[in-house]
Amino acid sequence: MLRYLTVPVTAFQQNCSIVWCDSTMDAAIIDPGGDIEVLKAEVARLGVKLVALWITHAHIDHAGGTGQLARELGLPIIGPHPGDQFWIDGLPQQSQMFGFPPAEHFTPTRWLADGDTVTLGECTLDVRHCPGHTPGHVVFHSVEAKRCFVGDVLFAGSIGRTDFPQGNHAALIASITERLWPMGDDTVFIPGHGPESTFGRERRTNPYVGNT
Ligand SMILES: [Zn+2]
Ligand SMILES: [Zn+2]
Repeated sequence: MLRYLTVPVTAFQQNCSIVWCDSTMDAAIIDPGGDIEVLKAEVARLGVKLVALWITHAHIDHAGGTGQLARELGLPIIGPHPGDQFWIDGLPQQSQMFGFPPAEHFTPTRWLADGDTVTLGECTLDVRHCPGHTPGHVVFHSVEAKRCFVGDVLFAGSIGRTDFPQGNHAALIASITERLWPMGDDTVFIPGHGPESTFGRERRTNPYVGNT
């Protein structure tokens, strides 16, 4: 079974998640935006074995620690979708603009596409491409655990910003209603910021995508 621990990182309190298979203890870090020493300490405390870094999208608060962590620990970088290449290329400028420590450039070991799967031990998660907040944004869905790690696509009571370069509001709404809602009302999602919620609850009450 898939287990996870969410660790808010960076000044943006981005919900980085350590996810692992509880039979093999193989683990991945989803969106290591920064605070690498905190993440390493949590991994050691949990006693899990890191095998990969998974990236939802290449904004600095989600991807800023990726290059350094991958280099130090020799880990493959999986994701995001190639649509976010320009955000990866722009990480140094993003660091400067938001006052983050300098982010190391990285090249994903494996780009992701809609319909791909990623595996940890005995756990497999489905990858869905959910553009709108960024063009290359992906989410990671565990059907078995009824959990979805959605980055900045959807929040409890809100949705991702689309006022960045290549943001697209209509695409974001389509990603949410056509790719997230079918995962089921009882699926709990872990957003990039703030508290967890369920798709059913957002479907009923979220003012940006309610009654869709
Ligand atoms: Zn973002
Ligand atoms: Zn974010």
